[in-house]
Amino acid sequence: MAKSRKTEKGLPIAIIGGGPAGLSAAIAAVKKYKNVIVYDKNPEPAKKIKELAYDPFIVAEKLDSDKFEDVYGDKYSFIAPALKSYGWKEITEQLEKMGIKVSNNGKDRFSIEQQDLGRFGEVFKKSAESEGIVYKKSSRVTDLVISRGKVKSVVVNGVTHPVSAVVVACGSFSSPKSGSTKDGYAFAEKAGHEIIPIKPAFVGLETREKYGKFLDGVEVRDCLIRVSLDEELQFVDRGKLRFTGYGLSGEIILNNSAKIIEILEKGEVKIHMDQVPDLSRFEINRFLNQEFPVTDRTTLFQHLNPYLPDGLLGVMDKIIRVHSNRPVAFLSSLEKKHIMLWLKDFPFTIKGARPFNETRGVLGGVALDDIDPKTMRSNKIKNLYFAGEVLDLLGPWGGYNFEMAFSTGRLAGLSAANDNGAGKKK
Ligand SMILES: Cc1cc2nc3c(=O)[nH]c(=O)nc-3n(C[C@H](O)[C@H](O)[C@H](O)COP(=O)(O)OP(=O)(O)OC[C@H]3O[C@@H](n4cnc5c(N)ncnc54)[C@H](O)[C@@H]3O)c2cc1C
Repeated sequence: MAKSRKTEKGLPIAIIGGGPAGLSAAIAAVKKYKNVIVYDKNPEPAKKIKELAYDPFIVAEKLDSDKFEDVYGDKYSFIAPALKSYGWKEITEQLEKMGIKVSNNGKDRFSIEQQDLGRFGEVFKKSAESEGIVYKKSSRVTDLVISRGKVKSVVVNGVTHPVSAVVVACGSFSSPKSGSTKDGYAFAEKAGHEIIPIKPAFVGLETREKYGKFLDGVEVRDCLIRVSLDEELQFVDRGKLRFTGYGLSGEIILNNSAKIIEILEKGEVKIHMDQVPDLSRFEINRFLNQEFPVTDRTTLFQHLNPYLPDGLLGVMDKIIRVHSNRPVAFLSSLEKKHIMLWLKDFPFTIKGARPFNETRGVLGGVALDDIDPKTMRSNKIKNLYFAGEVLDLLGPWGGYNFEMAFSTGRLAGLSAANDNGAGKKK
């Protein structure tokens, strides 16, 4: 097979954004085309990942290509070519080769530990630089100069630079304090692309009930939530939930927040929390109503302690007016009713989502219809490409968004280099 070779130095391929999508695009492009420049408005690369305050960063989940449809739903056919050509295996291997340690949870998840996130962007950038890219920090692209169906130049910090192609990898509007403001959408609109309106996703939810002052920080490891719209059940899920000062967060809320925010426009949304999903109402009733010896002073706290966190039990008197230090043997029937209801159906009325600065993703972005999934090239402007979260693509929790950014970035970079004549013999 003929070995591809780099072209002579022509005008640069400009990559806008030094996040995972932009850096992945740059590494792929520079292997085939000599002149690749990454512009990022921040003084440091991949700032979004550097700033993650807690949780390991999940970079991928082992997933066979026949499962893509389950994960990406109706966007599956768009993302499939990128993921099939470069999926979880290739991505985790590339990260390791760069010197970024990827841990495996023993099952299907791959993540970068908290202590390594601070150096992630720098290592990624250095790896791209060692391949020959030029990285321009603190360089904000403010405009694309488009003429006769082509991007002719980019305007960076007020100076116009001619280009051969442009990859827009500016990120979504999630967590905009890390640099991903709405610039990518503006570039796409200028090029004639449609923007699907953006909404917050992977974000905490504010509740009308004000339990935050005594429940802030309490985590329930395993609960079941029933989400209703105007009292009609919409869906059920089970997992970890965390109370916050404003309402609810934690894995189960972040995962379902986009779905909940979508239905919030239609009416009143409630989350009914079952705190003990493995205990049936019948079992709880039988326990509470059994004949306790009068000498039995075992408290509610002692009985419920295996199931509920101390932080929750400690404040149950403020929520249902039954103190957890009450001996179960002395509970009135009204108190038992309150306990049963609270355990199996702790209700929250959803007021809205937390602001964009707290989101970990968004719904919406550059519409996929006018982008070729095999190349990530715009159907409107022939030397313009899109990659990563700027697109109207959102995977579920579990590494799918990083994976999507990385693989679409690689495809966009490769295509930009190929379309510039890379690999062709002169
Ligand atoms: C708190 C948090 C936790 C997350 N956890 C996970 C997780 O565990 N697993 C997972 O898969 N995903 C996670 N994500 C999502 C993940 O970070 C994104 O999917 C990923 O960063 C998207 O990469 P990107 O390159 O498309 O965009 P970004 O990472 O947002 O990078 C875009 C870059 O473009 C630059 N830029 C924007 N406009 C311009 C301009 N005009 N000129 C120059 N530069 C510009 C920005 O400065 C930024 O550096 C998390 C996100 C957050 C906020």
